[in-house]
Amino acid sequence: MPQLYDCVIVGAGPAGGSAAYHLAKRGRSVLVLEKDPLPRYKPCGGGVSPMVAAWFDFDFGPAISLKIRQIRYTWRGGDPVVVDLDLKEPVWMVRRDVFDHYLIQQAQKQGAALQAECPVSGLEWQSDRWQVMTTAGPVWGRYVIGADGAKGSMAKWLGFQERRRRLAAALEAEVPLSQPQTAAAHFDFGAVSNGYIWNFPKADGYSIGAGTFRGGEKQNLREIAAQYAQSFGVDLKSVKPFGHPICLWDEDQPLH
Ligand SMILES: Cc1cc2nc3c(=O)[nH]c(=O)nc-3n(C[C@H](O)[C@H](O)[C@H](O)COP(=O)(O)OP(=O)(O)OC[C@H]3O[C@@H](n4cnc5c(N)ncnc54)[C@H](O)[C@@H]3O)c2cc1C
Repeated sequence: MPQLYDCVIVGAGPAGGSAAYHLAKRGRSVLVLEKDPLPRYKPCGGGVSPMVAAWFDFDFGPAISLKIRQIRYTWRGGDPVVVDLDLKEPVWMVRRDVFDHYLIQQAQKQGAALQAECPVSGLEWQSDRWQVMTTAGPVWGRYVIGADGAKGSMAKWLGFQERRRRLAAALEAEVPLSQPQTAAAHFDFGAVSNGYIWNFPKADGYSIGAGTFRGGEKQNLREIAAQYAQSFGVDLKSVKPFGHPICLWDEDQPLH
């Protein structure tokens, strides 16, 4: 008899990892399916609110690259305003490949099973269970969680109506540097219309990106970010930038 999991989770990002951790910890049988090999890169500034710690009972220390207590705002590279964050816990800067993998590993320690390099291609409700189709054959779960991110197809396959959504365009590049970074996160306004440029430091480099959030997708974000990066002595043209959509809230609406 093939195994019937309590829950099959599609996607091993922070959503899938968190769901897997909490379900496995409560004794549920869980299978996480991830299309990419792990650890996997995800375009992201990697700024994480330390408030997430309240939802877990393990130490995130090994997954945090740097902690910051300062934000530096600029207008077109000039007029800097430096703000000290009056927080009990500083803001975490993480590399998403490390952070997401660490979270999944904690779920595995609680008993969750993981199958990486295993893209899901569809699913079907079979009277009392979900059959989830993968490249390695079907798997079955009493429940299924679609945690496949902004580019995933699960919502469509599950029959959720097409949501009104606002898409932000963003581009991100990770720059490796050998010297330790200063502990401030940088935001620059003015160069990107309806958006901003960021430079989030890591212990061993920068994550520089630009996003536009209320229209303006036709701007050359790559060019704008490259120009900004020069002020940090970084030649962004020599590193590969990645584009990725961000789904933004666009008023309350029925999901189902
Ligand atoms: C450029 C950029 C910068 C950002 N910066 C920040 C930031 O600084 N701080 C912050 O908090 N948020 C940031 N975000 C947002 C953040 O990245 C997302 O909110 C977060 O990744 C969502 O997590 P998730 O687990 O829902 O999805 P994801 O992290 O996208 O994970 C989904 C997973 O599902 C897998 N998957 C997809 N389809 C399938 C399939 N068919 N079968 C199996 N697996 C599949 C994918 O490979 C992926 O691993 C940024 C986003 C972008 C694009």
